[in-house]
Amino acid sequence: MFSNLHTHTTRCRHAFGTEREYIEAAIAQGIRVLGFSDHAPMLFPEGYYSKRVRMLPEEMDVYVSTLQALRDEYKNEIRILIGLELEYYPELFDRTLKFLSGYPLDYLILGQHYLDNEYEAPNHTMLGFSERKYLQRYVDQCIAGMEAGCFTFLAHPDCFLFKGADRDYEEEMERLCRRAVELDVPLEINMYGVIKGGHYPNDRFWEIASRVGNTVLIGLDAHRTEMLSNLEARAAAYAMAERHGLVPIDLPEIRVPFKTLSV
Ligand SMILES: [Zn+2]
Ligand SMILES: [Zn+2]
Repeated sequence: MFSNLHTHTTRCRHAFGTEREYIEAAIAQGIRVLGFSDHAPMLFPEGYYSKRVRMLPEEMDVYVSTLQALRDEYKNEIRILIGLELEYYPELFDRTLKFLSGYPLDYLILGQHYLDNEYEAPNHTMLGFSERKYLQRYVDQCIAGMEAGCFTFLAHPDCFLFKGADRDYEEEMERLCRRAVELDVPLEINMYGVIKGGHYPNDRFWEIASRVGNTVLIGLDAHRTEMLSNLEARAAAYAMAERHGLVPIDLPEIRVPFKTLSV
């Protein structure tokens, strides 16, 4: 039995499976807590629309009401939590958070996929950067997000593809890990990354997290229902933790998302 708080649905336009299909798959796997964390709608500047990344603001109502109905329907079989995965984009963050606070969300997770933002000269964190200043910006952004105090955990902290000097990587990522400890934000070993077979989760990062003493968890980051029954990938994610002496927690403490919001 285990829990998973990192689940995406068709609403983000790049994942497969409805909420009900995920719930059925989770029950079949004996999952006791299933949290939905689809990519949050964001209040972008006029004219920008992310076609393959996230739902639109006007789609929030149906996302939440669908999950509320399913949460009631399945309440004797599984605990459903309603959440979102959100980016920390400095210019949009406050107004997006304010918009989201109008919905009864249980939790938010921080997933930083872009440097700065995704609508001006997009700098996807997985492009591969060699210069320290870009890694530094990524770390700064993750830290600013964690400092906002609304995130239950940081998803795939090692998704930033860095091709520069080891020492730069060590120092910057140690800075990220230390701040996560201070702010009591768990870090996620990402199972979707295991399945994709890319550069994360990576040993270099988790060795640092182990040394710093971070709290870690395994997040499925499910983009297909089949990922819930992928025991091989789950074992590989646990093996990554074990190699570095890390013991993943099953369920993080849920941080109330909007309590720090100044109205
Ligand atoms: Zn996604
Ligand atoms: Zn995700």
